[in-house]
Amino acid sequence: MKPAGLYVHVPFCLKKCSYCSFCSIEHDPGMETGYRAAVLSELKQKTRGADLRTFYAGGGTPSLLPPEYWRTFLNELGSIADINAINELTIETNPGIVLPEGIQGLRQVGFNRLSIGIQSFSPEELKVLGRIHSPDQASEALIEARSAGFDNIGIDLIYGIPGQDLHRWENNLKAAVQLMPEHISCYELSLEPGTPLHDAVAGGEVIKPKEEICIEMYFLAHSILTDAGYLHYEVSNYALGTDFISKHNTSYWDRTPYFGLGPSAHSFNGGFVRSWNTSDISNYITILSLGNSPIVNSESLSVDDMVMEMLMLGLRWQLGFDMEHLLEATGHTVNAEHLDRMIAAGRVTLDGSSVIPTALGMLYADGDAVGLIN
Ligand code: SF4
Repeated sequence: MKPAGLYVHVPFCLKKCSYCSFCSIEHDPGMETGYRAAVLSELKQKTRGADLRTFYAGGGTPSLLPPEYWRTFLNELGSIADINAINELTIETNPGIVLPEGIQGLRQVGFNRLSIGIQSFSPEELKVLGRIHSPDQASEALIEARSAGFDNIGIDLIYGIPGQDLHRWENNLKAAVQLMPEHISCYELSLEPGTPLHDAVAGGEVIKPKEEICIEMYFLAHSILTDAGYLHYEVSNYALGTDFISKHNTSYWDRTPYFGLGPSAHSFNGGFVRSWNTSDISNYITILSLGNSPIVNSESLSVDDMVMEMLMLGLRWQLGFDMEHLLEATGHTVNAEHLDRMIAAGRVTLDGSSVIPTALGMLYADGDAVGLIN
């Protein structure tokens, strides 16, 4: 069996944020009990005999489940899958959720990487986003994680928030740099239909910065973070050196197989097949209590899909894509005229047969992937 990653989705949060379209509900103790049993049951269905290299507990807010639960989970996992070569165990948390003892507990059960959803250091922006925490709690969460022994900490920031300007975004980036986490993700706010923030923007109650300002925000992040020593290794991700590149996320970009557990989680066999679980949490619990599979659908990627995926993913991260590998794996070459235009515009450089995106190129990955298709 090929080495693989394991993702577990925990669909509970203390309160739903105004922009959130993820599979998560406000915490419900009864539902949590059912979920805990269901995900352990799915673990046994899917990962028996697997050779795992990374483990990522995401959500939702997985740190709402206590460290003892994660100990049980990891023990179960170790009894049916090979976890000896796992070198990165990440858990997501949010400021204001876990007490310092809880963070210590997560470190003690084996998590060696903590991802904290800070999103902003501005009280006004946190309010617009419907976050439950203050800027001080965000900084405290990182300091507590350090005291608990985490030496690989990532934080998430959002730009393009209604009311945010370049100056405020710069302040957020500088506040992040002062805390020196090993990893910083900067995502542009995506307004998903059906969320309260989408409706507030559509109704003119709040105004999202224009796209050209968001592009300036992207380059401001690149400039401030690379000046501070961070490596811009993927369109939205920065690491304080190659040791701190997210190994789990890298496995998504280089097409390593992964197992996904929990409602809405996706799995990939490393070749052509991707499948996903029901997003209905009650349904997920019921299906697993009956010993059935929560997978509701799957897709078989065609060779053309695979080419598009290799180009899009490659153009979003520092290693780019290799034209010889593309030819070997799919029989496809790229459109040479479009590639020349990308080079002339400063969006990519060539290193032998590898096409390496610049910071500008990463921003235009999707359109350029389409242009490169022969
Ligand atoms: S913390 Fe994350 S998953 Fe939970 S509601 Fe907020 S955005 Fe959604």
